[in-house]
Amino acid sequence: MRRVDLFLISCLIVGASVSASAGTGFPAEQRTSRYLDSVRQEPLLLLAFLREIPKGGDLHNHLAGAIYAETLIDFAAKAGLCVDRKTSALLPPPCDDSTGKPPANSALRDPALYNQMIDAFSMRNWNAARESGHDHFFATFDKFSSALNANMGGSLAEVASRAASDHLQYLELMHTADGMQAALLGERLGWSDDFGTLRERLLSGGLKNVIASTRNQLDQDEAEMRSILHCDAPEAGPGCAITIRFLYQVLRGLPREQVFAQILVGFELAQSDARVVGLNLVMPEDWYVPMRDFELHMRMLDYLHGLYPSVHISLHAGELVMGLVPPEGLRFHIRDSIERGHAQRIGHGVSVMNERDPFGLLREMSQRNVLVEICLTSNDVILGVHGPEHPLAIYQQNGVPLALATDDQGVSRSDMTHEYLRAVGAYDLSYTDLKRMARQSLEHSFLPGLSLWVETREFSRVAACEGDDPNANKLSKGCRHFLDGSERAQMQWKLEGDFARFEKRF
Ligand SMILES: [Zn+2]
Repeated sequence: MRRVDLFLISCLIVGASVSASAGTGFPAEQRTSRYLDSVRQEPLLLLAFLREIPKGGDLHNHLAGAIYAETLIDFAAKAGLCVDRKTSALLPPPCDDSTGKPPANSALRDPALYNQMIDAFSMRNWNAARESGHDHFFATFDKFSSALNANMGGSLAEVASRAASDHLQYLELMHTADGMQAALLGERLGWSDDFGTLRERLLSGGLKNVIASTRNQLDQDEAEMRSILHCDAPEAGPGCAITIRFLYQVLRGLPREQVFAQILVGFELAQSDARVVGLNLVMPEDWYVPMRDFELHMRMLDYLHGLYPSVHISLHAGELVMGLVPPEGLRFHIRDSIERGHAQRIGHGVSVMNERDPFGLLREMSQRNVLVEICLTSNDVILGVHGPEHPLAIYQQNGVPLALATDDQGVSRSDMTHEYLRAVGAYDLSYTDLKRMARQSLEHSFLPGLSLWVETREFSRVAACEGDDPNANKLSKGCRHFLDGSERAQMQWKLEGDFARFEKRF
């Protein structure tokens, strides 16, 4: 019997007992909420329930960290890469087993090597006594990135399929989609303290070609993904239903001329290609260059935001903890990312209570409607922050919008369902809290168009769709017209339909 059937049967059984005690006529949302409360202490039933909840979007998902090690080994084998037996790092051919560099495909017949590679490419069996989670985590990327780069279409297919099985509908993937061309151009053209000069030099010196070839590459990668998932065939894979958009991923640990070139490509791409909806600055925030150049990066963003005001920005900020950096380094990254870097969303925000005037900052985030992308597994394995040490509940109490996100689910061996599981377990979240976060994920997505909601306290719909049923075959003319004009509202409408169907089961 399929898992879903088992789930439905368990729902029907428990649902029957719940409705008997609750009486009839309870709204579906309340019955669903009672079901969640009835399985709160039963991890396996809770898992089955959370798997099926509609989850909206994953707004903080690095494509390079989303792929499971088993897939990466498969990619490496197909691409003819070699592996260093000692470090598990993938290497370009020619391979030579006699010098400890066998072909990666030999791991498919050698369980010890296979297991060693999985552990090296992820947090599986990570040994906290031997190595910090932070160091092991960030060291994985250099080991496997050549496999990933050799199969971007396959990588997209994997994340889309997993998103479908998690009942997500939308992904905003962080992706350095130009394959480092902008960084190389930036290095070649050098630095100037005058941002205007620097921008002109890049635009006339080859950046436009980088944009064109990046768009071509995205076309190819998407076509490859659709072919792998059989999206044009009757038996199309569930991943085909996932809407994917990209955030251009700037590597903030690179030299300043390269970071500027990447930020500029991010703005230019987002302005010229609807698939790229914004940009984000990534890499360990505590490393030397991101700490040293933080203020410079904010100035770059401030300057370019002035020239491209409609391009969306989300920033990693506050992925820090006391001891990882000096106390002074914990005081300002979140606030500055919002006020000077123009971030509409913050990734992580773990160190918020170490910022200057933290309650003033929380108030400001609530008033400016800045969403925090909450990455619980990642914060636990990289920073060692979990339970009451994590500010999720403080953000919630202070009215800051939140959405759960996976960050690097392949490296951390998680998925969105398990992020929900952690959140419910650690913070006792209610069904209403989870539904709110799913709705907020689409509300704060960077998809274009007006929102379905006039306000997000009670979630009241726009007048045009007020009386419509999201699962009806036919919509009122006004609602149809409204949805046709907004990609964001279309996504939100689909989520409402999914919630209504989900809640009907209880
Ligand atoms: Zn991240």
